[in-house]
Amino acid sequence: MKGIIFLTAGFAAGFIFYHLFLHRRMKSRYAKDMELIHRASDELSSALQPERLPDRINALFARLTGIKRCCIMLYDAQHDALVIRAGTGISERAKRDIRFKPGQGIAGRVFSTGGTEFVDDTAIDASYMEFFKGTERPSERLLCLSLKFKSRVYGVINLHCGAVRGRDVPFGAMEMHLIHTLANISAAAIANSQFYVQSVSDGLTELYIHRYFKQRLEYEIEIANKYSLSLCLMMFDIDYFKRLNDTYGHTAGDYVLKNLGCILKQSMRDTDVCARYGGEEFAVILSDTGIENAEESAERFRKRVEDVEYHFNGRVINVTVSVGVSGYRANENKEDFIKRVDTALYKAKETGRNRSVRL
Ligand code: GH3
Ligand code: MG
Ligand code: MG
Repeated sequence: MKGIIFLTAGFAAGFIFYHLFLHRRMKSRYAKDMELIHRASDELSSALQPERLPDRINALFARLTGIKRCCIMLYDAQHDALVIRAGTGISERAKRDIRFKPGQGIAGRVFSTGGTEFVDDTAIDASYMEFFKGTERPSERLLCLSLKFKSRVYGVINLHCGAVRGRDVPFGAMEMHLIHTLANISAAAIANSQFYVQSVSDGLTELYIHRYFKQRLEYEIEIANKYSLSLCLMMFDIDYFKRLNDTYGHTAGDYVLKNLGCILKQSMRDTDVCARYGGEEFAVILSDTGIENAEESAERFRKRVEDVEYHFNGRVINVTVSVGVSGYRANENKEDFIKRVDTALYKAKETGRNRSVRL
């Protein structure tokens, strides 16, 4: 009898302790997840560096899921395709080259439906394999979620869950709920950021306007000083643009300006801040970049402009640009920094145009 009482009491105590322990674990897990969601909405709502938003979203997903391979794909209207804008465990070549058309592959499919798909084995997904035919692909489990806000889909997030199988989904119900919440917050942040970028961009070139450039330079200077990072500024001006307008007309001039904006964006990194400084003068902020790399970018861009032929109303137009580039000197103010880059640009003009000068 005594034995039975002891046994029952033991079981009861064990049961209570087990549930107390479980409850505490769940509570701490819940608190941790809530903190992550709080931090996510905080981090993602800042519009100061819109081009870094995909990286921040990707990092949050990697942290939440513990996944080693994931990427954010956003819809690029210019190419009518999803492009990889940030990723972990994804090769640079893949980031540059992979483009899914809407409806194509798993990502394109999820983008078109605006839903979520879990594929237990990518190797037996016909549309996915058709896209990658001829290349070696690992057999993987993939969770693909659309980034949708107010019925518009902005892109998708791919979570590559590795080769382990056996469960219908790689995450539990609670985790899936959190993943969906983070996807919703991310989509809202992307929508806001795109709206904001549009409101501080120039209508013709689609580059940032002067006011934003000034604000952003101030912010990047603050960051460079705080974390002792290198920061470079490049400014360029089209050579003999007045003559181009006079010869081919103002509309031809506008056409050249618009295309130059595209060439500039294609020549620079996604994180470089490209702005229309004035009429036919432009500026690029290259954060966390040393002067050698900045000079290399300036030269690459200058050569590219020199090589392009513009076809307008049956006539072929060539333009060149003069470029000034300089590195930020600790604790100087933005006016002095801009003035030095402007002096470099002036020197490039003075010494024959179609060249870049570093000061
Ligand atoms: P330089 O090589 O010394 O820079 O000579 P430039 O002719 O380019 O320089 P200048 O400052 O004499 O002329 C700039 C011209 O740019 C004059 C202006 O009409 C033209 N411009 C400025 N903004 C626009 C624009 O939005 N569209 C067009 N088509 N032309 C513009
Ligand atoms: Mg000019
Ligand atoms: Mg000018």
